[in-house]
Amino acid sequence: MGFATDAIHAGQRPDPSTGAVVVPIYQTSTYVQEQIGKHKGYEYARTQNPTREALEKNIATLERGSRGIAFASGMAAIHAVLLLLQKGDHVLVSQNVYGGTFRLFDRILRNFGLEFSFVNTSSVEAVYRGLQSHTRMIFLETPTNPLMILSDIQSMSQLCRPRSIKLVVDNTFMTPYLQRPLELGADIVVHSTTKFLNGHSDSVGGVVVARDEGDGAKIAFIQNAGGAILSPFDSWLVLRGTKTLALRMRQHEENAREIARLLKEHPKVRKVYYPGLPEHPQHDLAKKQMSGFGGVISFDVGSLEKANAVASGVKLCSLGESLGGVETLLSHPATMTHAIVPRGEREKLGITEGLLRISVGVEDVEDLIEDLDQALAHA
Ligand SMILES: *Cc1c(COP(=O)(O)O)cnc(C)c1O
Repeated sequence: MGFATDAIHAGQRPDPSTGAVVVPIYQTSTYVQEQIGKHKGYEYARTQNPTREALEKNIATLERGSRGIAFASGMAAIHAVLLLLQKGDHVLVSQNVYGGTFRLFDRILRNFGLEFSFVNTSSVEAVYRGLQSHTRMIFLETPTNPLMILSDIQSMSQLCRPRSIKLVVDNTFMTPYLQRPLELGADIVVHSTTKFLNGHSDSVGGVVVARDEGDGAKIAFIQNAGGAILSPFDSWLVLRGTKTLALRMRQHEENAREIARLLKEHPKVRKVYYPGLPEHPQHDLAKKQMSGFGGVISFDVGSLEKANAVASGVKLCSLGESLGGVETLLSHPATMTHAIVPRGEREKLGITEGLLRISVGVEDVEDLIEDLDQALAHA
């Protein structure tokens, strides 16, 4: 089936007892059993829930994986993936991953004997040099937030495969509509469904999709053991979100291309980071491994003062953390998503105080352009 068809139908069929077209919210903690040891496959709702199952199947299908496992947040999903490892294992991580991912790895999981190296995964050479005999996982975010640096998933998988290293890709920014890491050789995909997959800024959640059934079963075991499951209501919300994923992503992208063009030509903007611009250093890789460039753009206006002027000058766009919703959201990475990254480290990466990130929504683009234009006039 085509992507949009799967988005609407995969994992879902009319409710067997009533014919309800939409999968109900099975808000229950347990299920009656006919006799000891005889039940309908559902025993206790941490372990199995039909609403969550529908979502898990839906996203697994969209990512072309064998199994999806849904969690209470993107961070809970990433945490579960890291629990596949054992004390003493080494993980190579993209240098400027999401701040929360950095925090989990650097501040929590290091205490349990996992080792992390943060390297420039846009360079296959740098990754090759970073490999150690006990490297068991490579964790990529591509494109990275907020600087839109890409990593070549296929080349990474060629490094990983002969060494039995698991390749994990955080696909939150692109969604399976624009990038399917498992088809490029990755083993595991993670998402914050909070962003584009749900798409309506009204739920926090995460999902893991495994290519192989073995990994899928292990993650499901961890999900049940750790218990950080996605609630039935949130599962239902995300299911509603994925139905329009294809439509939304097309519009996010169309709007983003126009806004990137505006920003690029604007005298108040020093630099624009968007993989869809021909001058993006990895534009060719973007064209090769993604089927579009997404809805997130970062741009540098030169100083904290100017960034502040733009952020408080917008009227239609709102200022806030997060991304991927239908409404346009402006954020300031240095004080929001990347506040946990030490300042020196941040500046080195290029996450300056003048950097703003815009998650382009699906409003009429003329209105967005007018709003940004008038806000930039204040900078
Ligand atoms: C938001 C985000 C996360 C964390 O997800 P939560 O749902 O907020 O826990 C992880 N990775 C990326 C790329 C994100 O944008």
